[in-house]
This record gives sequence, C-alpha cells and structure tokens, in this order.
Amino acid sequence: MNSQEIFDAEKKYIVPTYARPPFVLTHGEGVYVFDAEGKKYLDCAAGIAVNALGYNDPMLVAAMQEAAQGLLHTSNLFYTEPQVQLAKALVEKSFADKVYFANTGTEAVEGALKFARKYHKERGDANRVNFVAFRGSFHGRTMGSLALTDSEKYQGPFRPLMPGASFANFNYLGSARKEITEETAAVIIEPVQGEGGVFPASEEFLRGLRELCDERGALLIFDEIQCGMGRTGKLWAHEWAGVKPDMMALAKPLAGGLPIGALLVTDAVSSSLHVGEHGTTFGGGPMITSVALKVLDRISDPKFLAHVQETGAYLMERLCEINSPHIKQVRGRGLMVGVELDIDAAQVTQKGYAHGLLLIKARERVVRFVPPLVIEKPHIDELVDKFGKILAEV
Ligand SMILES: *Cc1c(COP(=O)(O)O)cnc(C)c1O
Repeated sequence: MNSQEIFDAEKKYIVPTYARPPFVLTHGEGVYVFDAEGKKYLDCAAGIAVNALGYNDPMLVAAMQEAAQGLLHTSNLFYTEPQVQLAKALVEKSFADKVYFANTGTEAVEGALKFARKYHKERGDANRVNFVAFRGSFHGRTMGSLALTDSEKYQGPFRPLMPGASFANFNYLGSARKEITEETAAVIIEPVQGEGGVFPASEEFLRGLRELCDERGALLIFDEIQCGMGRTGKLWAHEWAGVKPDMMALAKPLAGGLPIGALLVTDAVSSSLHVGEHGTTFGGGPMITSVALKVLDRISDPKFLAHVQETGAYLMERLCEINSPHIKQVRGRGLMVGVELDIDAAQVTQKGYAHGLLLIKARERVVRFVPPLVIEKPHIDELVDKFGKILAEV
C-alpha cells in the first residue's frame, strides 16, 4: 500500500478516535524514525514515553528474538520462569514486596483501585471505597481509571462513571487534606504529571501526602506509568522525594515497546488478595517478561540513569536559552520536559513534521519532550535548533 491508500483504508476501517499526521512510519534507528517517503524525524515522543531504548536497539532485538523462540504465552494457570524473574528484579529495585502483572497502564491502575478496596474490606473497613486524585491527572480510560482522570473531554461522553471519585489541587496539601476522609480507600497521584501538562509534584507535597495518608488510614498509589523507569533520571520518580507508596503502577517503557503493565505493592496490600479474586489472560506472559527483565537491567544501571540526568539537564538548559515570546515556562524532570506556550501547541507539533521533528503535546498549550532515554547531546542540539526555528515561524 502507498501512503494515500493507507490514509484511505484507515478512514474506512478504523474507529475514528485518533487524529494522525499525514505520513506513514516504516522503521526507526536509534532516536530517529523514518516515513514511507524516506523522510527522517528526530523522535521527541518515543511513542508517548515508551521507546526508552529507541529503535532497532541490538540488545532489545536480540532479547525479543531469543524470547520468541521460547514460550510466547501460557496463561496465568501455569508457572513460567521469566515472570518470577521480572517480579524479583522489580521487588529488589523498589519499595515493593510483590508484583501483579497486567497488559497496559490503565489495567495496572484499575488493579490498584480494586486492591485498595480489598485491602480495607479485609480489615473490616468496608466503608472505605472512595478515591482521591488530582487536578490535571491522567490515569486511564476504563470506567474506574477514567473516573480519576481529570478531563471533561475524556469523561463527559461516558458518564456515569465509578462513583466516589474526587479531585484535590495538585501540589496543594491543604486541598488534599479536605478531600481525604474516613471513606477514602486510596489517594492516587503521578509524581510527575504527564498528559496534564508535565507538572512535577514538589518533594514537600509528596512527603506531606504520605503523612496525610498514614494519618487518615488511606493507601497511597503512585502512577509512574509515564514518569517511572528512569524517565526522570532516577529509576522511580518518587525517589527524588524520598517517600514510598503502598502501590505503584508501571507500564509504558517497561518492556521497551511491547505492551505490559505492572502493579507493585507491599506485603500488607498483597496479603489481602486471595486466589481467583483478580486476574488476566495475558498479563506477565513469558515472552514479554523476559524482554522486560533485560530492559529493566539496562535502565536501572547507575551509568544509564546518570546519562538521563545529564542529558535531561542539558535539554532543560538548552530549551531555556531559546529566545521566543511564545515560551511561558519550561518545566520537568530528567528527560520529561514540557514547554508551555501562549499558543495552541498543535501549531508547533504540526510544523515540527516539516522540520523533521516528531513532537507531541500535553493538554492545549504544552509541547511535551519525552524522547528515547538513549538520546545524546548532539541530538538535543539538533532538536533545540529546530524547535527554536519553528517557534520563530509561528
Ligand atoms: C499512559 C498513561 C496511563 C494509561 O496507560 P495505557 O497503557 O495507555 O493504558 C495511565 N497513567 C499515566 C500517568 C499514563 O501516562
């Protein structure tokens, strides 16, 4: 099929929930992707913070080839080694004692909501069924996770959603104090908000939230689906604040581009779950988990994380040097940076394609930079030069 035929077939055969730019991606190499006309793009999106190791990474390709020759799928009715190996590695590298595997981020969040209710029910506290999330949050689009996603556009068409969800103001402890009650099962927060516009939670805020949850008997869930796995320059974004959650949802980059979700929990949470109470057909399959184990080994290497801190700081510094009246703020942590503009960011992402930059936005006015974590300084120079030129054109 040529590109036009693909556009036409998409219109005819795909449910119209996505808007895509008019080119067809065919392959990638390092931090670059290529379209069907042979045009090259520097990738600032990484498939929405997924492709942490970039494209055609030799280690990742070899890991997939090796895993493909073993078992692909067995269901969770049977033992396989890769699943326990990945769980062991995740536990050893985090606050957690146990892992529940899923297939997507949304599903990991949905699991966290069910586990939180079960935790309290098991303790005879069946009234604790509500959840507190934050303004600007994104936690997914199933009925439970959507109820905790602060977006009228996403929620509106699908009400009624799960009852008992409320929102406090992000980075404002006084607001959280008002929302967390004796009926709160858990509080859920992204240590760095992604879709909501790239807002890092302050260290004091996360620490205060931990204290508040302990004081009121609510569980604390960190959604690190986007900001976790090295994205901020530490393996987990919450490490910057030195606080620990009761549960943490992971997904996007965990298997280097293959679909996976994981929910990391403490023994206290895990011990409230019993056989048959939750489950999934595909979650934690042997092929995906053996690839994810290698991705985790690579990303958790202190040298890899130091690279993210260094290139992240460089990206921030270079973006701050751009002299454009359209830039209102540059913010973020590590290789998760948002540039807030005074115009619709779609104008800039669209112009990006012509300049060979794959850009994405977060909400209306923020251009979100979440490149592959293997990006190097010369790529950042190229990115910033092009981004500066685009801003001068709009
Ligand atoms: C992407 C994302 C989700 C949803 O993950 P899916 O894999 O798309 O289901 C949830 N929370 C955050 C913070 C995300 O970035």
